[in-house]
Amino acid sequence: MDMGYKPRLSSAMTVQKVLQIGHPMLKQRASEIDVAEITSEKVQGWIDDLVDTMRDCSGAGIAANQIGIPHRIFVAEVSGNNPRYPYKPPIPQTIVVNPRIEFLSDKTFSNYEGCLSVPNLRGVVERHLEILMTGFDRHGEPLELKMQGYSAGTFQHEYDHLDGFLFPYRVKDPLTFCSWESFEEFHQESFADDVRKLVDEWGA
Ligand code: ZN
Repeated sequence: MDMGYKPRLSSAMTVQKVLQIGHPMLKQRASEIDVAEITSEKVQGWIDDLVDTMRDCSGAGIAANQIGIPHRIFVAEVSGNNPRYPYKPPIPQTIVVNPRIEFLSDKTFSNYEGCLSVPNLRGVVERHLEILMTGFDRHGEPLELKMQGYSAGTFQHEYDHLDGFLFPYRVKDPLTFCSWESFEEFHQESFADDVRKLVDEWGA
């Protein structure tokens, strides 16, 4: 089986292949990392690869199993004008190892999602508006992120990857599925309005 991941050879930028929907590793629960191992060269190399690959693909986030590493790490980052998601508010680079998620309320919002592992498809998923994410940062220090608003959806999407869930499994109304081109033509303007309202209300 092509697991995708090729160990990096140097400190140069390393862009890994992103596994696509249908690959068995995307459906499996990724396993925890020994916290003492987080600062090892191996795990730090994985994190650098995740950042390089996410940036190369203009992703808003990426999970380790998307590049063939079956362990619980993800990265999220949105800066300036992301060409894939021009309406997304910025997210400073955040690396989460062994994440745990707690929903702080039942409030949800409808998010038009896309995914580097699901080419040319978008669909509407309900995401929680208020979450608490705990885990460890890339230095092995405990991390506690209380998030609210639109950006909380990005973290739920990445967390889902590590449990073997891709966004299409969570789309309740299949009539919302669309290509990226159709999204831009028919849905992006009104969705960007919805995002602006959420950001005004929740600050993120
Ligand atoms: Zn994804």
